[in-house]
Amino acid sequence: MPAPPKFLDYVDANADKFIKRLAEAVAIPSVSGDASYRKHVHEMASYLESQLKTLGAEVRSVPLGKQVLDGQEIDLPPVLLAQLGNDPKKKTILCYGHFDVQPALIGDGWDTEPFKLVIDDKTGRLIGRGSSDDKGPVLGWLNILDAHKDLGLPLPVNLKFCFEGMEESGSEGLDELIHAEVGKGKFFEGVDAVCISDNYWLNTRTPCLTYGLRGISYYKVTISGPARDLHSGVFGRTVHEPMTDLIAIMSKLVTPCGKILVPGVEDLVAPLTSEEKARYDKLDYGIADVEHSAGAQIALSDDKAAVLMGRMRYPSLSLHGIEGAFSAAGAKTVIPAKVSGKFSIRLVPDQTPANVDPLVIAYIQSEFAKLNSKNKLSIENIHGGKPWLADPNHWNYVAAIKATEAVYKQTPDLTREGGSIPVTLTFAESLGVNVLLLPMGRGDDGAHSTNEKLDRSNFIEGTKLLGTYLYEVADIKA
Ligand SMILES: [Zn+2]
Repeated sequence: MPAPPKFLDYVDANADKFIKRLAEAVAIPSVSGDASYRKHVHEMASYLESQLKTLGAEVRSVPLGKQVLDGQEIDLPPVLLAQLGNDPKKKTILCYGHFDVQPALIGDGWDTEPFKLVIDDKTGRLIGRGSSDDKGPVLGWLNILDAHKDLGLPLPVNLKFCFEGMEESGSEGLDELIHAEVGKGKFFEGVDAVCISDNYWLNTRTPCLTYGLRGISYYKVTISGPARDLHSGVFGRTVHEPMTDLIAIMSKLVTPCGKILVPGVEDLVAPLTSEEKARYDKLDYGIADVEHSAGAQIALSDDKAAVLMGRMRYPSLSLHGIEGAFSAAGAKTVIPAKVSGKFSIRLVPDQTPANVDPLVIAYIQSEFAKLNSKNKLSIENIHGGKPWLADPNHWNYVAAIKATEAVYKQTPDLTREGGSIPVTLTFAESLGVNVLLLPMGRGDDGAHSTNEKLDRSNFIEGTKLLGTYLYEVADIKA
């Protein structure tokens, strides 16, 4: 069902109040990755908790224990589990967001104070750290509660919220909490679908829904030989050199055109259907956009769908660096004693770290054996995570498409993203329900960068979008 006009009118009429609340939230520098800012992450949790309570939610602030950061043992920020309504005749939607932010200092190159929301009337931008990632979307949900409370409107669904304060720092403690809250009588019982608003449109024009994320397997290959660094004038062409071995191995992993050379890895990719292929042809995002964000005309192909699929639905192998190599200026004639090459593979269904790792390890061992080197090889997987893919024909997506069409008068692009948001997979697997990524901000928001912003229109229309989605999802046939 469409959202009631008085809800939409209320959002327009109260835009200034909503922006004021965003300014209050941005003013709390809730940087999770720096121990000296941790008190502000707790402060942000308390702020949200009191806002949620004022708006009628039952809220539980769940402590997650301690962590060691920057050499000190400190408390992890709590997760807020909040709930409004438990009418068995209504669907229950779980909304996830995070209230921590990336670090930001004016010295990083910000034009304005990062923790003071600046409203630029000329461009319509709301500028400040966290405006788009992810305080704007989190407050979008609060705006909806505010409107319904003031208007005396019942919410169309039962709502549950899971807001965390460690997303920018690996979501420490969150998976354990989610697993502990699944089951009869537990917080996540009865959730019919999940909505996460914590990503962005591909561009600045077209709303999108995201139904897939790539996973990752990150490797470190170490070659060691001499007991210490050697001089090439004394030992060149005299001993096996670790760096030479490592470069030989790293050159066998991927072609300059992106094809992964590890046997079997590409064979694990789920086949492309014509329905999915058609989505890439239609996307309002092309080679020019990719090259614009890369800052150079260096796309791997002239075929738009091929370039987009390279990022969204095929695996990629990237070489990241060599630890222990001479990398300073000048011409040092060292033979490094031990070097470690770092590379990762972005995974897509049906790849997992569990089925890809053995292929990578066996291949590197066999390539190393061909070198006839007397140096030593070791390989480790530093971290890994599985890819995630949802069914975009599920009612949760159908409702979000209808809502986008109602608010923006545009059919949203259906996209997959090249990066990872691990909690998505945790919700999908532990709750066994459909998960939707419904972004509020635009592709140029600069989420982890300087001068992060959220356009005023995305905050206000985005609030209407999230609210309209709840109405559309309420009576769609499950
Ligand atoms: Zn985020």
